[in-house]
Amino acid sequence: MVSIAHALTGAYLASVCPEPLVYVPLAVASHFILDYVRHYDIGVAMKKYHFGKIQIAIWETLDLTISAALIWWLFHTYPLPYQGHILAGALCGILPDIIETSDYFFNQPLPIFRPFYYFHERFHHSTTHVWWGVWPQLFLICAIVFLTLSR
Ligand SMILES: [Zn+2]
Repeated sequence: MVSIAHALTGAYLASVCPEPLVYVPLAVASHFILDYVRHYDIGVAMKKYHFGKIQIAIWETLDLTISAALIWWLFHTYPLPYQGHILAGALCGILPDIIETSDYFFNQPLPIFRPFYYFHERFHHSTTHVWWGVWPQLFLICAIVFLTLSR
């Protein structure tokens, strides 16, 4: 899934339960669960349209910027200690993709992460059909926005 969905989910989990022993494993686990949902993301677009590293960097920067803006919009009124947990939750939500980034950007994948790449890849269910891959993510993002704003 896109970083927006992963980061927002991790941030939301941390906002609901700002206890690191709870939200850190939940946010990391949510990443794999969400990747299991058939989705369209930058990795799929990269293979479909043969994106180069600069195009991937531009898309990922956009993805992360929108993630940060949404998280700020939803949680900027929360007390400061809460905001630290929310940021940590968001980072845990995208942590598996941050680790995977070394595989994309370095031509030689880091051997220490090979078992992790294999594990991460096993959870990935993607589609090249944009609509069927985007709507579950839009639904998730709208649900988190709704749940956060209605608290
Ligand atoms: Zn992933």
